[in-house]
Amino acid sequence: MASNDKPAAPGADSFDVIVIGGGPAGYPAAIRAAQNQLRVACIDEWKNKDGSATFGGTCLNAGCIPSKALLESTELYHRAREEFSIHGIGVGTLSLDLAQMQKRKAGIVKGMTTGILALFKSAGVTALQGHGKLLPGRRVQFTAHDGTRRELSARHVVLASGSTPIELRSAPFKAPHIVDSWGALEIDAVPKRLGVIGAGVIGLELGSVWRRLGSEVTVLEALPDFLPMADQQLAKEAQRHFRKQGLDVRLGARVTGANVTGGAVEVVYTDAKGEQRLTVDRLVVAVGRRPYTQDLLEAGTGVELDERGFIKVDHSCRTGVENVWAVGDCVRGPMLAHKGKDEGVMVSDLIAGRYGEVNYKVIPAVIYTAPEIAWVGQTEEQVKASGRDYKTGVFPFLASGRARAMEQAAGFAKIVAARDDDEILGVHIIGPLAGELIAEAVLAMEYSASSEDLQRTIHAHPTLAEAVHEAALNADKRAIDSINR
Ligand code: FAD
Ligand code: AMP
Repeated sequence: MASNDKPAAPGADSFDVIVIGGGPAGYPAAIRAAQNQLRVACIDEWKNKDGSATFGGTCLNAGCIPSKALLESTELYHRAREEFSIHGIGVGTLSLDLAQMQKRKAGIVKGMTTGILALFKSAGVTALQGHGKLLPGRRVQFTAHDGTRRELSARHVVLASGSTPIELRSAPFKAPHIVDSWGALEIDAVPKRLGVIGAGVIGLELGSVWRRLGSEVTVLEALPDFLPMADQQLAKEAQRHFRKQGLDVRLGARVTGANVTGGAVEVVYTDAKGEQRLTVDRLVVAVGRRPYTQDLLEAGTGVELDERGFIKVDHSCRTGVENVWAVGDCVRGPMLAHKGKDEGVMVSDLIAGRYGEVNYKVIPAVIYTAPEIAWVGQTEEQVKASGRDYKTGVFPFLASGRARAMEQAAGFAKIVAARDDDEILGVHIIGPLAGELIAEAVLAMEYSASSEDLQRTIHAHPTLAEAVHEAALNADKRAIDSINR
């Protein structure tokens, strides 16, 4: 415990730590604070479309978990249709029960969100469902969902209010026709024509879900490049596969208008050839998210927002106000659940006087499409621009016995390492379970491993993980199971 801090006096309304927001940044902060023997309350105002209140934030209720549930179901459906016959399996007439698929998804979300309450109970976190507002002096106004209000006080307050979808002025939400990502996860009949604005991570995942179920999917992306934040060798491979799957991704296409007429959506966009029109049955707006801080801060708290609305914090998630911290999507950095979790845990360890740090250079990114895409560290383009001499190693899943046995031999694993000291600078994977495979690279980079360290690590055979091993070997042109180029 920090020396200037005294434990909170026991009392219903005073805590050592109050966390505002119970998403993947806030709830881990609360649990870790409780593990550190602090008196903790976590406030969350989330309400589902049926009016039920749950913890878990965007991630569990409307983001990571429901999207992965639908990606899994639809991929199974797609594979049953396209691949089972290759395995010699006949399934007769394949049918789709979308209501059951959605029910399964809802069951997973319910299980995970009620799980948080169980975790809180076991750790001793006080769960408060309603709105939290920071007042000056580390006091917090709590308004329960039934409207009752009380004032709480804390030695430390952690703001974890998350983010919300960006709405386009040119295509305002108009359910059920023009929807955000949450709405796209709730569609109850497969649309014949689906438009998606934005070819970012969320747009590609949602587009894939509905494409696999038979929608004609058109993705409109304003930027001229596909996945500009990814390694470009990987982005090109991904674009090729998405095209083959029938995802019509139109680059350099900026949406300027969308109108609902006669049950359809008329979308207007401009590209290099001028103004274009597209008619779809449903339009998903997936143009990114913005920090959410509505009614979070009373005037005079001293907590500042930057020009884009993020709560200003330093490297350790301290706001400028003593003992007020902020973590997750409401602060700078990638809007990822695991980044928020790491920050939440770090802050609660720092509050308790323990060591805590987030290694922002080693945060993995995953796109849960098929093939799956994952990376960590720098792209080849970034390393080249930095001027550092480097080498690359690539291993195609076509040469992986396990990938071929799985009938999923598309894609590759790629490593970028420094030529001088062999440090691993980035790992980029497109292929089966890339999101799982990247964990090895994250661990290696966390420990500042060299590509030789990976080369000298034994990998079970036949596994997908061998692809990472062989990519490292290929960086020195010593791969065994693929031609060294
Ligand atoms: P949130 O999850 O947004 O939680 C904030 C919580 O705070 C909410 O419950 C909100 O109701 C509550 N709150 C806000 N203000 C107040 C207040 N004043 N009082 C009380 N409560 C308040 N990330 C990944 O890492 N992997 C993925 O696969 C992934 N998939 C995604 C798919 C989709 C469709 C979407 C939309 C997002 C996805 N994300 C994914 C991003 C991920 O969901 C976010 O990065 C993550 O949820 C951020 O966590 P957070 O705790 O900062 O905020
Ligand atoms: P992300 O921020 O990764 O979720 O991606 C959102 C994507 O939406 C970005 O690639 C933006 O370029 C794209 N985008 C934003 N506004 C528009 C628009 N008006 N028309 C088409 N694409 C857009």
